Parts: sequence; C-alpha cells; structure tokens
Amino acid sequence: MLDLIAASFMVDAGILIIYVQAGTIPPVVAVAFAVCGLVVGSILFALSESGFNDRFPDHYLTVPTTITHLVVIVGFAAWAPQIGAVLLFELFVVFGFAALRADRRQALICWAALLSVLTLLFLLTDLPIDLPHQSPLERFATLLALVSTVGRCMFIGAFSKAMRDSLYKRGVQLREAYQRIEELAELDELTGAYNRRCIMQHLDNEIARAARHGEPLSLALIDLDWFKRINDTFGHPIGDEVLRTFAITIFANIRNFDRFGRYGGEEFLLLLPNTDKREALLIIERLRMIVAELDWSAFSPSMTVTLSAGITTMTLDESTEAVLSRADQALYEAKHDGRNKIAYA
Ligand code: GH3
Ligand code: MG
Ligand code: MG
Repeated sequence: MLDLIAASFMVDAGILIIYVQAGTIPPVVAVAFAVCGLVVGSILFALSESGFNDRFPDHYLTVPTTITHLVVIVGFAAWAPQIGAVLLFELFVVFGFAALRADRRQALICWAALLSVLTLLFLLTDLPIDLPHQSPLERFATLLALVSTVGRCMFIGAFSKAMRDSLYKRGVQLREAYQRIEELAELDELTGAYNRRCIMQHLDNEIARAARHGEPLSLALIDLDWFKRINDTFGHPIGDEVLRTFAITIFANIRNFDRFGRYGGEEFLLLLPNTDKREALLIIERLRMIVAELDWSAFSPSMTVTLSAGITTMTLDESTEAVLSRADQALYEAKHDGRNKIAYA
C-alpha cells in the first residue's frame, strides 16, 4: 500500500516536471512536491515498521493519512493555482485509497475534512484554480494527469478485487482448518475412532439420554488379544495397521447410532444405545467372530487377530465410573477365560 502511495506521488511529480518544462510552474514546486511525497512516505513507512500503527484499531491510520494527503495536495493547489485543478484530480486517488479501508465513520470524517479544506480554498480565497491548456506541452501534461488519475482509480478497483479474492480464499482455508481442528479434537489420529475425551463425552450424553427416555444402554470394552506379541512379531508399524484395520472393520459392522472410540492403546469402548443385554451379547459376539475370521494374511500369512470384550448394561442412577469398572471386570473375565471371548457383567 505504501509502495503504491509513493509511486502515485512520483507519477505526479513527473507530470509537474513537464509543467516546469512548459513554463507553467517554477521548478521549486515540482521539487517540493517530490520531497513532500518522500517525507510523507518515509514517515508512514517508519510508523508502520516501528509497529506504532498496531496500537490503533485501524492500523492503516486511514483518517490521519487521508487528511495529511488532502492538506498537502490542497496546499500545493493554493501555492500553484495555475495547475490547481490537476493537483485536485489526485484527491480522487487519495479518497479512492481511503474508501478501501475506511469504515462509515472514518469515511464521514475524511469527507468532512475534504469539504472544509476545499471550502477554504474555493470560497475563502479567490485563487484562480486552473487546468493548464495553453501550449501543446501543457495540454500534453494535462492529458497525462487526467489519464493517469483515472488509471490509478481503476487500479484501486482492481486492487480491491484482489483483496476480496484473497480474503475469500483465506476464508475457505480458515473454514478447512477449523474443520480439521474439530476433527483432531474429536478423533483418534491413528484409527479415526473417537478419541478418549470424546467417547467419554458421548458416554455421559448417552447415559443422560437413556435415563431421559427410559431406554437400556449397553456398552462394551474391547481389547485386542496378545497385541504386544503382534507388535513384537511383526513390528510396531504393522501393529498400527492392524489397529486401523480393526477399527474400520468395527465401523463397518455397527449401527449408525452406536459410538465407537479408542479408550487407550489397543482398548476400545463401544456404546450401544437403546440396546439390552440380549441384543448387546449378539452384537458383540458377531463382532468377535468377524474380527477372528477376517483374513489378516495381507499383513503376514501367519497372523491372526482376536478380541476380548467385557459387556455390561447401565442400571438406573449408576455412575459412569461404576459401569466402566463393571465392563472392565467382565473384560478381565473374558481374558481369563482364554481370550477371543466375550463376557457379561
Ligand atoms: P492381552 O491379551 O492381555 O490384552 O495382551 P496384550 O499384549 O494385548 O496386552 P498389553 O496391555 O500387555 O499390551 C498392549 C500392547 O499394545 C502394548 C503396546 O505396545 C501396544 N500398543 C498400544 N498402543 C499401540 C499403538 O498405538 N500402536 C501399536 N502398534 N501398538 C500399541
Ligand atoms: Mg490387549
Ligand atoms: Mg490392553
């Protein structure tokens, strides 16, 4: 933005030099204008680099910057009224820039400043604000001034379009990042199952829902058998793949209202809402069989994977800890019973 403002000043200084050549204005006006542009640009740059701008809600300092440019331009128009109209063209560029950044209040302040300063120039002085057009060189410089001003105004439009496009793109990226954060916060990275925090939250919700509707709620703690041995035999990366495949298999074989989460390591929690003991036993026995009969030979010809599960059903007014501890007890019994078993407590 500062580069654009500086470039704009330099274009105008160049046009003023042509007026100097045409004898319309003395050289000092063109030199002073270029110096003024450099000074204003340097101050804005220094403020921005020092972080001074960041102290204000509008870190573009739209109002002070616009009013400074307004005063500089109108000051020069008063000093060299013979090219006054040409200088005043620049106000379109300055206020075009301001319009990109100003809110309604700031726009009103800038416009009121414009009204006041121009009132001073036009009504309280009788300076002959002119548009030079006597010699061909003057006409050429005036033509350049007009065309370059309109060009710069159009560039501001294109600039604002680019800003809107980049804003839109950022919005899309932000939405994707937010979605990813939500997923990360809910899902276990390895298996895609709910993470422990989330499945515990679901457990609380399901307990409350079961109590509200007077429905049975069953749950199962599922633990893979001899998993340490799988890691030791085939390596940890294969162990990870087994966990992933196991989770996908479970997902493919549960109802859409069941909730499946990783409770820790190779232990998972499956919530079965509106499911009584009989149905829970059927569901978990079916899952046990599916996993045991799955063809794991893609990992290794000798591989077998089985699960043990401890199943229980909530009773009224029971705490989460109590029901989980009962499921854990059932799991212990299933393991004790030789593994690849399910037990109910
Ligand atoms: P049991 O039948 O009694 O459950 O035997 P086990 O070997 O499965 O039980 P144990 O709790 O002793 O071992 C669990 C193993 O699971 C140990 C740990 O290295 C492994 N494990 C836990 N999380 C991961 C994981 O994310 N990836 C892999 N590859 N292994 C894991
Ligand atoms: Mg295990
Ligand atoms: Mg375990």
